[in-house]
Amino acid sequence: MNHVISYSKTGSVDVLEYKEAPIPSAGPHQVLVKNAYAGVNYVDTYFREGLYEAALPSVLGIEGAGVVESLGEEVTDFKVGDRVVYMTMGGSYAQYTAAYTLFMAKIPDEVSFETACASLVQGLTAYMLITHSYNVQKDDWVVVYAAAGGVGSFMCQMLKHRGAHVIAVTSTEEKGQMAVNYGAECSCRYDKLAETVREKTNGKGVRAVFDSIGKDTLDLSLDILALEGRFVSFGNASGPIDNFSLNRLQRRCLKVTRPGLLHFFEDHESFANAAQALFDEITNNGVKVSIFKEYPMSEAKQAHLDIQSRKTTGKLLLKC
Ligand code: NDP
Repeated sequence: MNHVISYSKTGSVDVLEYKEAPIPSAGPHQVLVKNAYAGVNYVDTYFREGLYEAALPSVLGIEGAGVVESLGEEVTDFKVGDRVVYMTMGGSYAQYTAAYTLFMAKIPDEVSFETACASLVQGLTAYMLITHSYNVQKDDWVVVYAAAGGVGSFMCQMLKHRGAHVIAVTSTEEKGQMAVNYGAECSCRYDKLAETVREKTNGKGVRAVFDSIGKDTLDLSLDILALEGRFVSFGNASGPIDNFSLNRLQRRCLKVTRPGLLHFFEDHESFANAAQALFDEITNNGVKVSIFKEYPMSEAKQAHLDIQSRKTTGKLLLKC
């Protein structure tokens, strides 16, 4: 049998059910993966709460790592026994997942299942944001919110390697110190951001703000940008932004983008190259992957409570 975390209606953590389900079979372009770990991402709470739609009932989870058990009939580039990590539109909170190979990569020998699963979605999100959403240049001043979190900790490290100056924004002093240890130039709380930006940039503003918070930080983000600065809105931790008027960009000719990782890669090759570049950052460039806690899969509810409580840093994993 296959133990899974599924939900048949959206809502609080109480909609999550730990139950037995049949082992799925791999479709033509899928492989069946026996998962070692599933990654917990903040995005999973949007699916659980219904902000992002899924056909219900559904197994939660967009990221997993494990061993290939069997192959769909059209699959040629993976074999039984391969160690793989993957992204999926849903279904990784499970012992077995039938996952498309489009967003699947082989895990290099020197990388553990834990590290691979803890880095794929959050590391690739960081890569997408700083290379495509706004291609950060050496000496740019930029702002990263939730900078000690999963995505934030990758961003601070990767941006430091690019020679950018990161103002890390966090809810506590301890988290701010972690972000500085990861490579941010300085840190501050959300209510001190406007004055910190003025001070550090001589009143000019920052080239980009990477905003994962959404509703609560919209005004702040638009206020701290330099002329033609980039507002990168990529998450809704405080709730979604509704009714956004484009006229608000006019005052300083701002640019806005709303990227989504599951829609970002055009084909397997571009995904596999980005995954390889991420593994290179980890194995050769010293990018650290911080794991906050591993939970048994049966404790997925607690993992969701913890990530939404703002007490976590780095990555949360479910052991499958
Ligand atoms: P994190 O580890 O960053 O956890 C979320 C963090 O958000 C918290 O630790 C907290 O940091 C901050 N936060 C601010 N306001 C709130 C609030 N009201 N409630 C809860 N948390 C809040 O999670 P992830 O690394 O998994 O994801 C980070 C963000 O990136 C999320 O918004 C997610 O949706 C987004 N994302 C977007 C993707 C895309 O493709 N667009 C892909 C992956 C992630 P602090 O206490 O320091 O403020």
